[in-house]
Amino acid sequence: MAKYLLSIDQGTTSSRAILFTTQGERYASAQEEFPQYFPQDGWVEHNPNELWQSVLSTCQKVLDENQLSASDILGIGITNQRETTLVWDKNTGAVIYNAIVWQDRRTAFFCDSIDCQDIKNSIMDKTGLILDAYFSATKINWLLDNVPGAREKADAGQLLFGTVDTFLLWQLTAGKSHKTDATNASRTMLFNIHQQCWDDELLALFSIPKSMLPDVMDCAAEFGVTQSSLFNGEIPILAMAGDQQAALFGQACFTEGMAKCTYGTGAFLMLNTGNKALKSTNRLLTTIAYRLNGDVTYAIEGSIFMAGATIQWLRDQLKIIDKASDSEKIAENTVVEHGVFLVPAFTGLGAPYWDPNARAVISGLSRDSGRNEIISAALQSVAFQSKDLQNAMAKDGLALSFLKVDGGMAENNWLLNFISDMLSITVERPDIVETTALGVAYLTGLQAGVFSSVDQLSTLWRCEKSFTPQISEQKKNRLYAQWQNAVSKVQS
Ligand code: ADP
Repeated sequence: MAKYLLSIDQGTTSSRAILFTTQGERYASAQEEFPQYFPQDGWVEHNPNELWQSVLSTCQKVLDENQLSASDILGIGITNQRETTLVWDKNTGAVIYNAIVWQDRRTAFFCDSIDCQDIKNSIMDKTGLILDAYFSATKINWLLDNVPGAREKADAGQLLFGTVDTFLLWQLTAGKSHKTDATNASRTMLFNIHQQCWDDELLALFSIPKSMLPDVMDCAAEFGVTQSSLFNGEIPILAMAGDQQAALFGQACFTEGMAKCTYGTGAFLMLNTGNKALKSTNRLLTTIAYRLNGDVTYAIEGSIFMAGATIQWLRDQLKIIDKASDSEKIAENTVVEHGVFLVPAFTGLGAPYWDPNARAVISGLSRDSGRNEIISAALQSVAFQSKDLQNAMAKDGLALSFLKVDGGMAENNWLLNFISDMLSITVERPDIVETTALGVAYLTGLQAGVFSSVDQLSTLWRCEKSFTPQISEQKKNRLYAQWQNAVSKVQS
């Protein structure tokens, strides 16, 4: 009987359960969206029970629809939206509050209050991160200070913290495992990425008791087994990785210098830097790419907040397209140098600017500019922002030699051509674009002994289509200079 690897891909807006064969081929999947809650301006929450039920029901659905039982599954791997923060009672399992989502800005004020360069430098040195509300640490601090009784219970050792991976593991194992992996730990702003341990000074800075924190494991490890009532039998949980790290793994970026960019709601460019944790002086993040058998591989990461979300804005707010994919045809039929620039700073600017107060503009409009130019400018902004990241990496001494891409926007050929033009490198799209789920399936397979090594996994990666630069150097430079000019207008 064939056996399968089951990937749980718990994203910001939906949960997916995807089955892969032991040859690393996608076999079947189920997906479910869940509600988003915005209780105040800048606050974003998920209901933990809805989140867990969406995972449970997609897993049960994909097994049922394919007439599979627990014994057909070699192992489960969990990949997840990163940084999102949950706290629950160790004894009853009851969460003390909704999940505070990575996008949530309620602790920005607290971050601003830490106005000491030495502390910021120390955070960067230890965690590779820029002090920002994005990461888990200040979210945990907020929960302990704002949920009645939480601080006392935490001090008494009765509360546990987890990012989504840890919360799902706790649910899957009926409270038997309280663990995370090194990639998720590296996004909490509490984990020393050099020493591979929770950092006492940072825990003190954010007033978080160490007893709340999960054990940190390799990405491929024995995380526990599912309680048998869930899937009519036990299934081992063998892998974990944050979504962007899992995508890097699924893109087989296993050697230093290999890079991927996932173009979804936002865009996340990650470059493998091997066993060196390089420190960026250009406001990029240093992060753990993966940890296998105790060996850490590091990456440099640049996050763009608005990529596909800008196209959603064209569809839902401006209502100038019916569906995201319409943007491709329109851009194809519009001249490239139309003079219109859309800087999508709807929620501020991410790397390398980190400017939360910037707001979006459309600039360069003339009497003959219209819908098509705005749509083209929206797509172009994704490529220009990628070039901003490439430039920041170059200033840190890191060259991108080619780029593997995935995510919903990677279906847009016009966009991939334009990214190749702006970055002056080859852009490659794989045949399996669900690289996040694939990456954690690879990790699960490594732990299950289905795959022997990352070298073997490299041979499984297939390019579906590649894009090479076509634009002239002068035209590229002209366009990019105009983009930089437009960005300078929105910076606060
Ligand atoms: P996420 O995982 O972040 O939810 P996905 O990887 O599923 O996102 O990608 C969805 C995003 O990609 C949406 O924001 C959508 O607007 C955008 N998108 C999807 N298809 C296209 C396309 N053909 N051209 C441009 N944007 C697209």
